[in-house]
Amino acid sequence: MHRRIHFSVWYLLGVFLLIAIIHGFVNSQNTERIPYSKFKEYLNKGLVKQVYIGVDVIHGEVIGEEGSRKGKPFVVAKVDDPDLVRELEKHKVEYSGQFENPWVKELVSWVLPMLILFAVWIVVFKKVGPGGSIMSFAKTKAKLYSKDETTVTFDDVAGVEEAKEELIELIDFLKNPDKFRNLGGKVPKGFLLIGPPGTGKTLLARAVAGEAKVPFFSMSGSEFVEMFVGVGAARVRDLFHQAQQKAPCIIFIDELDALGKTRGGSSLGGHDEREQTLNQLLVEMDGFDSRKGIIVMAATNRPEILDPALLRPGRFDRQILVDRPDINGREKILQVHARQVKLGKEVDLRVIASRTPGFVGADLANVVNEAALLGARRNKSEVGMPELEEAIDRVVAGLEKKSRIMSKKEREIVAYHESGHALVATFLPHTDPVHKVSIIPRGIAALGYTQYLPGEDRYLMTKSELLDRLCIALGGRVAEEIIFGEVSTGAHDDLQKATQIARRMVKEFGMSERLGLVTFERERKSLFLDNGLGVGKDYSEQTAYEIDLEVKRLIDETYDRVKEILETHRDKLEHLAKVLLEKEVVEGEEFKRIVSL
Ligand code: ADP
Ligand code: MG
Ligand code: ZN
Repeated sequence: MHRRIHFSVWYLLGVFLLIAIIHGFVNSQNTERIPYSKFKEYLNKGLVKQVYIGVDVIHGEVIGEEGSRKGKPFVVAKVDDPDLVRELEKHKVEYSGQFENPWVKELVSWVLPMLILFAVWIVVFKKVGPGGSIMSFAKTKAKLYSKDETTVTFDDVAGVEEAKEELIELIDFLKNPDKFRNLGGKVPKGFLLIGPPGTGKTLLARAVAGEAKVPFFSMSGSEFVEMFVGVGAARVRDLFHQAQQKAPCIIFIDELDALGKTRGGSSLGGHDEREQTLNQLLVEMDGFDSRKGIIVMAATNRPEILDPALLRPGRFDRQILVDRPDINGREKILQVHARQVKLGKEVDLRVIASRTPGFVGADLANVVNEAALLGARRNKSEVGMPELEEAIDRVVAGLEKKSRIMSKKEREIVAYHESGHALVATFLPHTDPVHKVSIIPRGIAALGYTQYLPGEDRYLMTKSELLDRLCIALGGRVAEEIIFGEVSTGAHDDLQKATQIARRMVKEFGMSERLGLVTFERERKSLFLDNGLGVGKDYSEQTAYEIDLEVKRLIDETYDRVKEILETHRDKLEHLAKVLLEKEVVEGEEFKRIVSL
């Protein structure tokens, strides 16, 4: 109620202000107001050209400056002056009574603005609606791609064969809903694409629509959530309503987690609205008949925080994993994106794929794009291996910042630090070979880096491999200590990584003899199967203490091992660091030569 009253008061104020301005404007029009005495003065000097005598004012013109033919208009308030006419005649001024029609002017200056404002009022009112509910807000913001607009097909999505296979059945259904209907089969309603960011979930959903040639409603989870309570729910309702008219079609909710977070989780204000929206989504998903040909797809990279109710049968009961691609997948993705650029004959995408473990589709698209840009900058007619290699480096660690100035001492520290990582990796049995050591600073955090060349993708790691990784992580810091006798802050990241590996070995993988084959971490991935409320510790303080001790012991032991390796090979450490300081980058063959000296 209060809001509306306020609204009217402001509105009225605005109206009056506007009217006053227009009124003043109509009347002024660069007419000079002068006192009667001045008018008389002009008259006696013979400067007045003509006058119109109105009811209570006299309008007139004085002769302008010499040369200008146009007179200067003035207005003067009428005074009781019976001699005026005689004087006008005496000075031969042209005079006339004015057919002033005051109400015409009033009409222009008062009534017209009123009409305009009234029109504006009506337009606004229509939008807002008489009940004060904001009707247009409740309309879904979903972007609708008609069936000819979705040009993405399965050919554009590579390296996710399993996900594609699962979706083929769905496409079949969308193409031919009658077939399924006649058999009375039950088609799943909701498909949830789960995977890390950039693996192509959004792309895959659009490809499904493109393959099935059906309309595609696309909306992001966050777009449902608005300031006003109830708007999100109304939008959900409207979305499903519209979809029903377009069936068969796909509703795609991207970033479902923005909307589908576990209810009752946060007590901060504003979650009410999200809960309402989520509830409405659950209601709609239960309510519609999938045999009509509406399929709801959604994507998330955080399935563990989704409300369990969303994953119950009849809702998003099909979960499709869209994982990071393996080497073959990466090669295929590179091929997809390489279609857009001209590649040199010598380019071997397999090699690029082998150098980019852990990259997702979006990263690989980025690599190809960067390479094309580099090629253009170098005036090349086609993109070659050097461009692709450099593009990888760029994507790996942000843009190269050669211009960043590092002091001589800092460069030395970084060189020894990276050499330490690289040497430890070389002299341990269970590690990947070093591909490249660089002390060119990249991005904000990394001052240098060492890249390894894994032979194959890894899904399992043995204890010895993990221990060796731990060694590599500590290699940088230990090298600094051996050479300079003190450490810098540059090893911060490494220590974090080392601690993380050690903790996981103890807590998750049961690799500590002392604590035994127990895992102390609830597996988060399966959280969405139970109610998933709270991820508290489920072990005692005493155990926590012992875990800490074990982690510390593991790291201390590793430290000794690393120190021994680096002290034994100190000559190589120094040699490698020197070459690095000189060349900034040491790669493959050259590296092998240095360490085998
Ligand atoms: P997500 O939704 O999983 O975060 P996107 O679908 O938005 O990822 O992917 C972003 C971009 O990365 C896509 O537009 C595409 O260019 C590229 N991309 C990602 N995955 C793939 C893939 N599997 N095949 C081809 N290109 C991909
Ligand atoms: Mg996405
Ligand atoms: Zn390091």
